[in-house]
Amino acid sequence: MMNVRTIAVELQSLGVRVPDTETVRKGGAGPAEGQVLIFQDHFISVPSRSAGVSSSPYEIKSCGTSLALYWNGAHVGDVSLPPRPRYYDLKTSQGVLFDKLALIHGRDCLASTLYQDCRYWNTRSGCLFCGIGLSLTNGRTVLEKQPEDLALVAEKALLLDTVSHVTLTTGMRESEKATIDHVCACVKAIKGRTPLPVHVQIGPPETMDYLEALKISGADTVGIHIESFDSATLRRVAPAKAGHGWETYRAAWKYAVSLFGRNQVSSFLVAGLGEDAATILSGAEMLCELGVYPYLLPFRPIPGTPMETMKPPAPDKMVYLYEQVAPMLKKYGLSSRLSMAGCVRCGACSALSLFEEL
Ligand code: SF4
Repeated sequence: MMNVRTIAVELQSLGVRVPDTETVRKGGAGPAEGQVLIFQDHFISVPSRSAGVSSSPYEIKSCGTSLALYWNGAHVGDVSLPPRPRYYDLKTSQGVLFDKLALIHGRDCLASTLYQDCRYWNTRSGCLFCGIGLSLTNGRTVLEKQPEDLALVAEKALLLDTVSHVTLTTGMRESEKATIDHVCACVKAIKGRTPLPVHVQIGPPETMDYLEALKISGADTVGIHIESFDSATLRRVAPAKAGHGWETYRAAWKYAVSLFGRNQVSSFLVAGLGEDAATILSGAEMLCELGVYPYLLPFRPIPGTPMETMKPPAPDKMVYLYEQVAPMLKKYGLSSRLSMAGCVRCGACSALSLFEEL
């Protein structure tokens, strides 16, 4: 029988075919293009509609009211989907449904994109893998989340659906100050209404004052995502990010660790963008030395983006990378379990935390 580590890696690389039934459609939300599956009490976010999924050996079949996972027609085990959160059906005083403001990711993370547009999106500087504007076009969200609305959503999500932490991300406005001010106002409002720990995701700031402001607003953890340490790859897939230069990232990570503490700062490391694997491992070690958690995860193509036809990396490549990075975490005393809030604590998009236990 395959263990959960193997299942998680394979599902995130190969995806899963899901029946288009009411049971599945009502399942919990995840990041753009993702179906959250619960397998042996692990919440795993899995591609279900992107390129290559139609040829995945994994398939979910409905058996009455329950679901089962199959691999090449062989029964692997029972799976379930997160129940639809109860707060989704509430509305703001302006009539905006709460599920347009924030969704539950993974097991119990309340997640919101505060500003659902980006100065770089759909420009030559934009990240080719990013779909930030797509949910807006589809009417699944609103452009700008108001701090008080979001705080109310957090309060109800805590009360009705026992979320335990919050992830806030944002697109970049023309003014970086305006971007940070909005993030700070949202953190402050959530903190004013709930005791939930809050994670924020930003680019490397032009001044460390912005990190100070986030700390003062009450943010508990911060993600500053370089995505790839392979400079040629980063220039190709995320030119604006590459334009910062990695020393800018390094300075931001260092300062963020001094404010938020070791293990409370993270960076996404996306495998499968076309990079040399050695750059992932050397980058991960450098992050660990700084006290930054390297959130290694497979690339996930989002339908509608310029990279929609690219496939995630093969499972054996991910296993190799996870097996190299997990001992680094141990060596530097880092662990997903020590993270207070955000993607590292959630862990649904990566199998790294499962390898930490080795
Ligand atoms: S790891 Fe991050 S992006 Fe993925 S489901 Fe969890 S909170 Fe969402």
